[in-house]
Amino acid sequence: MGSKLEYNRCGENKMNKQERATAKSVRIDPDTVLIAENLIKTYTTGNSTVAALNNINLKVKKGEFIAIVGPSGSGKTTLINCLGALDFPDSGKIIYNVDGKGMGLDLAVMTNKQQKKIRLSKIGLIFQFYNLFPILTAYENVELPMIIDKKSPQEREKRVKYLLKRIGLGERMDHLPSQLSGGEQQRVTISRALVNEPLIILADEPTGELDTETTTNIIKIFLELKNAGESILMVTHNKRIAKTADRIITLTDGVFTHETKGGKPIEDIYKH
Ligand code: ADP
Ligand code: MG
Repeated sequence: MGSKLEYNRCGENKMNKQERATAKSVRIDPDTVLIAENLIKTYTTGNSTVAALNNINLKVKKGEFIAIVGPSGSGKTTLINCLGALDFPDSGKIIYNVDGKGMGLDLAVMTNKQQKKIRLSKIGLIFQFYNLFPILTAYENVELPMIIDKKSPQEREKRVKYLLKRIGLGERMDHLPSQLSGGEQQRVTISRALVNEPLIILADEPTGELDTETTTNIIKIFLELKNAGESILMVTHNKRIAKTADRIITLTDGVFTHETKGGKPIEDIYKH
């Protein structure tokens, strides 16, 4: 395998316990939440090979809102899945600021338990199709990651109610997803993503299913979160909404090909 890092995939540990115990954390800038270095991910189907990620480098700062744009098939979802520890690159590093103070830990050297902790409480995921449990209420959907993270009932109640009220769903906490509009369901997933106070929010086409007005409202929420210090990485093929982010990075065939500054006011995105 040459110099390629060996990833610890669930159930398929490639490092023994001793090697993992000696794996050292690295110091990173305390204001950096996540670093991706030289990520490569290739898919092989039959005779054809696709480089979904081809040497991706990225640093996300605390309180930064980054948009990744690119056409369908350019590798956006693959990137989110790798950064969210749902999938693993073939090689490269993904370093998380695990204590929020600059203790960097590479996904490749984590134990299964550490990887689980990253997924559960360091990453807030938001998907295009909401992925809410249909039989759970808005409140219960948001509470679930806190139950899995063994938080106390008192802490859960306080946090879930706070988030749902803050996002404008105080009156709809007991509704099932089927009793909520698309925009309301996406607000539930934003609350769920925030519930365990993640390092970063990763959003994969979060407004893909929404109309223009609802899309604007969701982006307003992202901007409010950013202004409150949250870090957000959003992938989208909607170039207009991407312009509201601090940085807009174009992904083409698995390569970052272009970066521009954003910061366009939300009120201006539909003006020419
Ligand atoms: P995007 O989200 O930008 O549409 P994806 O990350 O889903 O792009 O896909 C990037 C490339 O990798 C595409 O060519 C896609 O066909 C391929 N790909 C993604 N997932 C798989 C998979 N599980 N198996 C084989 N090829 C895949
Ligand atoms: Mg995608």
